[in-house]
Amino acid sequence: MQSKDYIELDEKYGAHNYHPLPVVISWAEGVKVKDPEGKTYFDFLSAYSAVNQGHRHPKIIKALIDQANSCTLTSRAFHNDRMGLFLKKLCEYTGYEHALPMNTGAEAVETGIKAARRWGVEVKGVQNGKQEIICVNENFHGRTLMAITMSNDPDSLINYGPYVPGFIRVPYEDVAAMEKAITANTVAIILEPIQGEAGVCVPYEGYLKAVRDLCTKNNILFIADEVQTGFCRTGKRFAWQHENARPDIMCLGKALGGGVMPVSAIVADHGVMKVFTPGTHGSTFGGNPLASSVAMAALDVLVDEKLDEHAEAMGKIFREEIAKIKCSNMVKVRGKGLLNAILFKDGFQAWDVCLALRDAGLLAKQTHGNIIRFAPPLVITETELREAIAIIARVLGKF
Ligand SMILES: *Cc1c(COP(=O)(O)O)cnc(C)c1O
Repeated sequence: MQSKDYIELDEKYGAHNYHPLPVVISWAEGVKVKDPEGKTYFDFLSAYSAVNQGHRHPKIIKALIDQANSCTLTSRAFHNDRMGLFLKKLCEYTGYEHALPMNTGAEAVETGIKAARRWGVEVKGVQNGKQEIICVNENFHGRTLMAITMSNDPDSLINYGPYVPGFIRVPYEDVAAMEKAITANTVAIILEPIQGEAGVCVPYEGYLKAVRDLCTKNNILFIADEVQTGFCRTGKRFAWQHENARPDIMCLGKALGGGVMPVSAIVADHGVMKVFTPGTHGSTFGGNPLASSVAMAALDVLVDEKLDEHAEAMGKIFREEIAKIKCSNMVKVRGKGLLNAILFKDGFQAWDVCLALRDAGLLAKQTHGNIIRFAPPLVITETELREAIAIIARVLGKF
């Protein structure tokens, strides 16, 4: 079978809830992927930052195979000999007292919101059913009904009502509007420290700190959705560390699974996590031994290979070099670490650039019409990065 045959199958049998770039990937290693015809590409999406450690990192694959040969799933009805070790490692890595494991990013967000609502009643003293949570415009928190309720993207929202009550949305980067939206029933503010899906929107310096202070002053929980920005992507372990704006709850996913399987979690200190008691939350697959072993290896790789510092250094080179490219439709390049985007003029069809990049051997995907995100696996070497930049420069020169 050839690429076009696989694409036909997807179209014929799948729901049409995605519009993928016409390329089929059948092999991957490190920062490279291949199609069935044998053409090689740089992967500059990294599965939306789920492959920070690179495709099929040998240490992560070893952990997967070793664990698959002993025990894969127990459910939380019994203890297993992996989960506790994983949670300890995750707590030490993040600097929080407790962790609660789930599977997907959307579930981590759901868990964070549930924790905040319960905390609101049991600790803050808000009446159950009255809890309010503030979110911001252009957010992306996943695809559950609660997550899309927070969204203001019409595609995500339309015809899925009735939506989940209790959310108030304010403009991004507007602390005054946030402060105005606070009531006695506000239990949390949730945001992405850098908005990934919105097009890698980096807030002005001081924004995260201001939100942190606002939460502290008003006895509100600060929830950071670090599902995409977390695990070294932006040049720090977590993006909130750029401003030392430590959240009360962090939602984690994507790269926690090392590009191998879905692993997510929230982390928080005891004052928040204590609201969960037996039977009040759970997941059949959350904390399973296979996921726990994979996630431990994924965390080890981030530390051993110093991927935070490396992402920081590579990101600097990327933005410097891209800014030099002569392309009349390019407005600017922005980002932190290896989470970057090129912004084109309004109305420009970035899709065409993505097709041309594909033909030249580099895979990236536009977000909205006129923004392309560039987020390679963090293990990319400087030589590989410069090779990729040369491809981007060559292609952009034609636009
Ligand atoms: C990807 C993402 C999610 C959702 O994660 P899934 O694993 O797709 O459910 C939530 N929040 C942010 C910021 C994300 O980038």
